Amino acid sequence: MKLFAVFGNPINHSISPRLHNLALNGLHINAIYTRYCLENGKDFKKKFYDLKLDGANITVPFKEFAYMQCDEVIGIAKEIKAINTVITKNNHLIGYNTDAPGFMLSIKDFLPLKSVLILGAGGTSKAISCALKDRGVKVSIVNRSKKRLDDFIDMGFNLNDWDSYEIQSYDMVINTTSAGLNDGSLPLPKNLLIPTLKRASYAFDVIYHKLTPFLSACKQNNLTCKSGADMLLYQGVLALEIFLENRYSQSEIKKYMEKAFTL
Ligand code: NDP
Repeated sequence: MKLFAVFGNPINHSISPRLHNLALNGLHINAIYTRYCLENGKDFKKKFYDLKLDGANITVPFKEFAYMQCDEVIGIAKEIKAINTVITKNNHLIGYNTDAPGFMLSIKDFLPLKSVLILGAGGTSKAISCALKDRGVKVSIVNRSKKRLDDFIDMGFNLNDWDSYEIQSYDMVINTTSAGLNDGSLPLPKNLLIPTLKRASYAFDVIYHKLTPFLSACKQNNLTCKSGADMLLYQGVLALEIFLENRYSQSEIKKYMEKAFTL
């Protein structure tokens, strides 16, 4: 039997076991996917091998720790410097980032895009901004604090904090902050956000289980909107495709995983 797990802290809220077990059961694969609450990110690799895992996902706050402990990193994860998926081959830990391509699959109906404004400069912002840049999209990032923007210097993005931001036109505005997750706040002050939305066509919020104040404002301003549910789904589809060594197509996996959002 194969064994997979998601590492994070906290981890009880993670929907990943549900997504993956639905697909593993649906595809009749002899495997179980569980969750593991890691205390210290430095122990990731040791725990992975102690638990005799065949593959794992990594969530907040350990994606950068896991990246550092991989023997090999594939694709866009090298640029993002964070991974959310690992497998092992010949005692080698191989890391991938499926958040970035998962995001691109989730916005395929909005493509092509010329320019995008990303609100927030955390880990999710890094994955999304690198994915868009790789597709030739002009990316601007605005963040509440100046400090977080340091992680993006010399990456080819237009960077601003709230004080230096000037209203411009973008095809799409993306919220990658947790503003509105547990409160009524907007990810950018209203006097800057609303005029920006009035000039844009599409909006995306990485938060996936509620209509945030941001998406609500986007709807009121007639933008075509999307929540983070499909991004979450596709990062899982791509991760399981890797775990199962490409023996199953994305559409076969998706057919079962997407039931997590409807059941
Ligand atoms: P980080 O902690 O790495 O970054 C948070 C960012 O949000 C920072 O830039 C921070 O700004 C900003 N921020 C936080 N609160 C506010 C606020 N009230 N107003 C304005 N800015 C704020 O978080 P992550 O990137 O890891 O996660 C962000 C969100 O993405 C979470 O809600 C998470 O659930 C979601 N997510 C969704 C995924 C999906 O598949 N749909 C995948 C991964 C994450 P500052 O620097 O000023 O503090």
